[in-house]
Amino acid sequence: MSWFNRLIVWVMPVFPKSFIWLFARRYVAGKTLADAVRQTRKLNAAGCTATIDVLGEDNRTMQEAETAKAEALTVLDTIRAEGLNANLSVKLSQLGLRLDAESCRHNVEALVSRAASLGNFVRIDMEDSTVTDATLHLYRAVRREHANTGAVIQACLRRSEDDVRALIGQGIAHLRLCKGIYNEAPEIAYKGREEVREQFRKLALMMFDAGAFVGLATHDKALVDWAVRTIRERNIPNDRFEFQMLYGVTEKMRARLVAQGFSLRVYVPYGELWYAYSMRRMKENPAVAGHIVKSLFIRT
Ligand SMILES: Cc1cc2nc3c(=O)[nH]c(=O)nc-3n(C[C@H](O)[C@H](O)[C@H](O)COP(=O)(O)OP(=O)(O)OC[C@H]3O[C@@H](n4cnc5c(N)ncnc54)[C@H](O)[C@@H]3O)c2cc1C
Repeated sequence: MSWFNRLIVWVMPVFPKSFIWLFARRYVAGKTLADAVRQTRKLNAAGCTATIDVLGEDNRTMQEAETAKAEALTVLDTIRAEGLNANLSVKLSQLGLRLDAESCRHNVEALVSRAASLGNFVRIDMEDSTVTDATLHLYRAVRREHANTGAVIQACLRRSEDDVRALIGQGIAHLRLCKGIYNEAPEIAYKGREEVREQFRKLALMMFDAGAFVGLATHDKALVDWAVRTIRERNIPNDRFEFQMLYGVTEKMRARLVAQGFSLRVYVPYGELWYAYSMRRMKENPAVAGHIVKSLFIRT
């Protein structure tokens, strides 16, 4: 399949944007906040919560980062105004992390403070390994003052066990656990499918054992089934975990979990930058291209 995915990634840029949109729209709520609100309302009606993400990353100027912050503040206000059951996810490189870490921290603090005043929560997404340290550093700084924020741990990274242990030790392990979407070097990342699954299980158990909150962000049936079994066997309280899935992915599995009474949060990305987002995701991880093409034909 890999050569097929790579081929798709290679040919995608020659097609017009309008054509790519036919593929990408399953994974993006739309181009505007109104689209995200509409989709979130549908998800809420179907028993899911949401986390809304304004598409964008790696901003090149602090002015762009300011604009991103302003849009994210509007998302928080709109969630309240529209009575949605949703929180906010942000990428630090969108808020200026690679340009000026201190200003980025102010931006995040502004978001987390606004969220606190609205009784809401901000999840800090994890990007590639060049910013893992800076992201966790900023998370720790913001989390010292505000409890309504959490971070993300990527099971594929060899360092993650130490990171989870440290965050648990500091009492600030409010974490989303995912495999990690970025293509990292074998020196720092587990590459085998089973190895990554094994790490995911190990890290989830560490969090369960510590009574930390964990967002189990995976569509991998093997991991979802394992988590359901483990949660039941260990009687993990409902307020200690939720499942998390991406908009447009494995909708049947999502519905099954909701029907079984589990909390499920859907990651809802929207924005004008959908094209850059889709193309970058495909280049970083050609398997995504395969998912997108398969999605035209198969409902998972
Ligand atoms: C809510 C949420 C938030 C995330 N946040 C981050 C983050 O902050 N940082 C980060 O590095 N990664 C993040 N990820 C991505 C994650 O790291 C994985 O790359 C992604 O979820 C695929 O891994 P998987 O566990 O679903 O297993 P896989 O084995 O990759 O997928 C299992 C099955 O799910 C389906 N599937 C999975 N992904 C897709 C897709 N994109 N499109 C269509 N079908 C798909 C396919 O049917 C596939 O066979 C997030 C994922 C989720 C669900």
